[in-house]
Amino acid sequence: MSELARLTIHEANQKIKSGTISVTELTQAVLNKIDQLDPRLGCYITVCREQALCRAREIDNQIAKGSPVKTLTGIPIAPKDIYLTRGIRTTCASNILRDFVPTYNATVIDRLLEQGAILIGKTNLDEFAMGSSTENSCFHCTKNPWDLSRVPGGSSGGSAAAVSAHLCIASTGTDTGGSIRQPAAHCSVVGLKPTYGRVSRYGTVAYASSLDQMGPITKDVEDAAIMLNTIAGKDSKDSTSIDRPVPDYTLSLGRGIQGLKIGIPREFFDSAINADVRTTVETAMRQLEALGAKIIEITLPHTKYVVATYYIIAPAEASANLARYDGVRFGLRKKSADLHDMYTQTKSHGFGAEVQRRILAGTYVLSSGYYDAYYISAQKARTLIRNDYLAAFDTVDIIAGPVAPTTAFKLGEMTNDPLKMYLSDILTLAVNLSGLPAMSIPCGFGDHNLPVGLQLIGKPFDEETLIRTAHAYEQSTEWHRISPELG
Ligand code: GLN
Repeated sequence: MSELARLTIHEANQKIKSGTISVTELTQAVLNKIDQLDPRLGCYITVCREQALCRAREIDNQIAKGSPVKTLTGIPIAPKDIYLTRGIRTTCASNILRDFVPTYNATVIDRLLEQGAILIGKTNLDEFAMGSSTENSCFHCTKNPWDLSRVPGGSSGGSAAAVSAHLCIASTGTDTGGSIRQPAAHCSVVGLKPTYGRVSRYGTVAYASSLDQMGPITKDVEDAAIMLNTIAGKDSKDSTSIDRPVPDYTLSLGRGIQGLKIGIPREFFDSAINADVRTTVETAMRQLEALGAKIIEITLPHTKYVVATYYIIAPAEASANLARYDGVRFGLRKKSADLHDMYTQTKSHGFGAEVQRRILAGTYVLSSGYYDAYYISAQKARTLIRNDYLAAFDTVDIIAGPVAPTTAFKLGEMTNDPLKMYLSDILTLAVNLSGLPAMSIPCGFGDHNLPVGLQLIGKPFDEETLIRTAHAYEQSTEWHRISPELG
């Protein structure tokens, strides 16, 4: 029965529709996988066993009475523990929110539930989504299912590992600088970061508001299209969500890429990229070419400023967003004789080292005297970076390259060197600085048999071409069918 946990959304949906399996059986199969493997992997912070089974039985009863089966009816989904879930603890992997139980759902969660999904649990992450390895969690590290001595990537590492090892059917992550795409690449699953404004951010704890975007992590491209259909669209509760019609993304599947122009940025293949990643991605490019795409070399000249620009803007916004955790309004409060000491105690006990580092850096670049030199310069660089991409899109339909310079690194390898960790984000950050949609899809294995991701970047609001390209590639390969061996 635990084989049922291996199903994709679209496969499970067929079986539920035809009555071959019940929702309770599917939910139980996923819970069995969690029992069997999560003690080793650490994908979850919270497992909603009773609520999930209870909802599964309720849905089975409704189906028996003739209720229609929607695209996500009875599908166990595991959101990253940064999405507010009514009545279910939402921690952001931070001591400051360790016992925080929200009174309302994020819009993404409401939309998934309306479509029939079951919340099976909340997955592990880097504290407040700050990190690239899921080692900055106040609970535990998540392990990469392909090699338990390695990181799953971050910050949505719990989600990517859970999808890869079949501890859920699908998941939702958040991507501020790569946190959907990079763990998806390291765990060999599909991660989709939509255009900024395509999906509501309401009820998802803010890290850097001008960069954050919510999206699916799934077993294949079809599932990503199904999930995006559900969560995309204007939300009156998020003024930055855009009022544009939401196409049916599943119509982009199976359309092929004959004649599509794919740009390959020279800067994405420089010496900082490991040889195994480079050769694997180059093979994927040849495959895209064989499918009828035209490969065109392009240049994104401001790529060298991307890491510095992001690591000024993101901490600046984070320092403002995290000011609300003051011991008064949310979460942890350390008792103290006076107000100032209470703030200090709460923050120093509540926030981990990386979060404190970001708050300090963010406050510094926003302080008078440094604001012009750092923050304003970074905003100008951001415009130049975005302009590089928009100019490239005058000649190409899609930009392609690796997701990360290396495959998954060893647990603990970079924890003492934050700058080295920041540099590993070089290939994902520009997409967020430019508000573009992008995907990571499995494209093979590098040294030590570790997964490599192919990154596809699209024009603003052109998730359709992204999904079309990703699907054409995926269907011509076997990578998405290979799962880690975990016994
Ligand atoms: N690794 C990047 C950071 O630490 C991106 C994180 C994210 O996308 N949430 O900020």
